[in-house]
Amino acid sequence: MDKIIMLVLVGMASLYFVKTDQNNILEDKKVNRVGLSRQAIDQELEGYGKLIYRTKADTSVAEMFPTIPENRYPVIFREYPEFISDGFDFPVGVPNGSDYYKAQNFGDNKHLGEDWNGRGGGNTDLGDPVYSVGNGLVTFSKDVCCGWGQVVRIVHYLPNDPENSYVESIYAHLHTMDITAGSLVKRGQRIGTIGNANGRYNAHLHLEMRNFINMSLGPGYGDDHFGYLIPTEFIRLHRPR
Ligand SMILES: [Zn+2]
Repeated sequence: MDKIIMLVLVGMASLYFVKTDQNNILEDKKVNRVGLSRQAIDQELEGYGKLIYRTKADTSVAEMFPTIPENRYPVIFREYPEFISDGFDFPVGVPNGSDYYKAQNFGDNKHLGEDWNGRGGGNTDLGDPVYSVGNGLVTFSKDVCCGWGQVVRIVHYLPNDPENSYVESIYAHLHTMDITAGSLVKRGQRIGTIGNANGRYNAHLHLEMRNFINMSLGPGYGDDHFGYLIPTEFIRLHRPR
């Protein structure tokens, strides 16, 4: 009988200590809330960068999609509001695209993007810098098979634009990629250089913009424009103020 009473007492005592410990932890969390959550987001973002290099690029469908879950975007942009979109610039010859021209427009030959070329033509623009069209989160940075080459995908958050609250920009055939998935970038930040998809084309930047984000990279050409934006038109309508 005594043993049972002792056990009950010990049990109650331990419950008391567990409870006070929890209270202490909660208070610590309150004090460090801002620092802790940013640290957690930083760790998470770093993890995405490593994850993408662990997987081997191939032609499988999974390789064509970004790996950062969409439900993390609000959390990430809440913690880093300075990376919310403040307008868009052109991706070459920043901010206005000067000294570059479009070798192929959106819609030409069913093209779903725009091909940006240096004025000199040919491979004269090989290795020229490519810049993010806006503030955003890099969701993909990877060498993809075949016609795509090295590709960077960036998601932009426009909280005041209900029709385009998330917009995506895609930069293809890159010669080099300067950023990893999980990086936060500013408008006009260098993200890579113009390439030729390993000698497949004359060097140029294939730029896509979409307002239905995180679809597969897809074919680059097609009749179905659902989710695609005309990059030049969108950028012109959304210049920084
Ligand atoms: Zn193209």
